[in-house]
Amino acid sequence: MYQTFIGLEVHIHLLTKTKVFCGCRSAFGDEPNTNICPVCMGYPGVMPALNIEAMRMGCLVARALNCRIPEKTWFERKQYFYPDMPKNYQISQFASPLGQEGSVEIEWGGVKKRVRIRECHLEEDAGKMIHTGTVSLLDYNRAGMSLLEIVTEPDMESGEEAELFVQQLRRAVRYLGVCDGNMEEGSLRADANISLNLAGKGLGKKVEIKNLNSSRFIKLGLNYEIKRQAALLDAGKTIVQETRLWNENRDETAPMRTKENAQDYRYFPEPDLPVFTPDEAFLKSVDAGLVELPLPRARRVMGDYGLNVEQAFLVCEEKALADYYENAVDAACKLGLEKKDAALRIANRLLSDVKHILSRDKIDTANIGSIKLTPRRLAELTVFVAGGKISNKNAKQALEAVFAEDKDPAALIKERGWEQINDPSVISEAVKQVWAAETETVASARAALEAGNQKKLKSLTAYLVGKALAATGGRASPEIAGQQVEELLRAES
Ligand code: ADP
Ligand code: ZN
Ligand code: MG
Repeated sequence: MYQTFIGLEVHIHLLTKTKVFCGCRSAFGDEPNTNICPVCMGYPGVMPALNIEAMRMGCLVARALNCRIPEKTWFERKQYFYPDMPKNYQISQFASPLGQEGSVEIEWGGVKKRVRIRECHLEEDAGKMIHTGTVSLLDYNRAGMSLLEIVTEPDMESGEEAELFVQQLRRAVRYLGVCDGNMEEGSLRADANISLNLAGKGLGKKVEIKNLNSSRFIKLGLNYEIKRQAALLDAGKTIVQETRLWNENRDETAPMRTKENAQDYRYFPEPDLPVFTPDEAFLKSVDAGLVELPLPRARRVMGDYGLNVEQAFLVCEEKALADYYENAVDAACKLGLEKKDAALRIANRLLSDVKHILSRDKIDTANIGSIKLTPRRLAELTVFVAGGKISNKNAKQALEAVFAEDKDPAALIKERGWEQINDPSVISEAVKQVWAAETETVASARAALEAGNQKKLKSLTAYLVGKALAATGGRASPEIAGQQVEELLRAES
């Protein structure tokens, strides 16, 4: 009966080599306070200088979210005091952020929805506080790192939708190569705003859940708030406008601070940075970074290759994986396979055997472009399986061998004698051997055939075929061996 409004503020760390207003290295995990200089430490009299790469990456995300890039964009000082921010103000954007009034469609298997983007703005991150016992330590390596904040309108209505939005945004920024999307390290983190109200009455009193560092917590935290706020409204109480934190050990949100009135940050234009006017050359350099995004790509892959929704979205999860897939299908077509056949065979192999090897060997899917099993090699192997040159079982072994030995499948198949046996007379020899050795099973199979016990017949037949294949070192064509076993059973009964 209540209407739910959810708006997200997502912070992403841009993958610039240096910080946003100084030349310090921008990296995680370095020795504390080694990537600092007078500018990011806020010494008096220092001058910030805009890192154009940060502006370019920010505008690229803005474009991907269908935002308008204004004619002029500039920076403001946001004043507040906190020990992790030595300047006592943060350089951010307020009146004319680099991206404005965009919107994206979210969909990943089912839910479909349009979410308006209010703005994207570029700012500097603060340092990191480490609380140990009675002291707090400060690491300023993070101070001044390029941060892009993406603010949505309150268009989402459930924890699931918000989770989907963040997952999709994460995939998109990884595709664009501007953020690694690592939520555990804090490269992507979100504040979730939520209110409930009687339907038709507009927005309710907003509660903000701060610093959510996993998309699952976003879902859980918001769904918890929906229940909590609905219960309060049911009881005739009012919601306190406040900031809450998600407690992952207790699966609940808890109050952090009340925020009755908007904090006055006394924004004023940063006097030490000129207004930025994106010119044609700059906008061109931004657009040069645009790539086909995960959602449209998954839709295209479904249409072009005939994959089902699930396969298409799995293949498009990572740009490197999708590129690999399309290259492999392309190569298989060049080797003579029909496109839809190649597409399906390669998707199956990629999403099962290859992914299994990657996760077992701890190879990041993002690095699939540099594995020894190149798209061309996977295509070659797929063509061999399709053409009956190698059995499926041996193809799996061949796959492992390509990884281990960095050789082409054709060479390996030859070297190991994995070539499938399709000669009926050779296979028939193996089947005869089985017949001689497995007299009891043969008799039971025959009895099952006569009694019309299909289930038993099927399992006994499979057993006999398996034995025949084993007798050829797994090389005999399973189809031909199967036919021969069946024929023999029928002939003799
Ligand atoms: P603040 O001034 O507290 O930062 P903003 O108006 O800037 O709030 O909005 C911050 C985020 O909160 C945005 O994502 C916006 O969509 C969302 N939001 C604002 N008001 C509400 C509300 N009443 N209910 C749910 N979300 C809201
Ligand atoms: Zn610096
Ligand atoms: Mg705000």
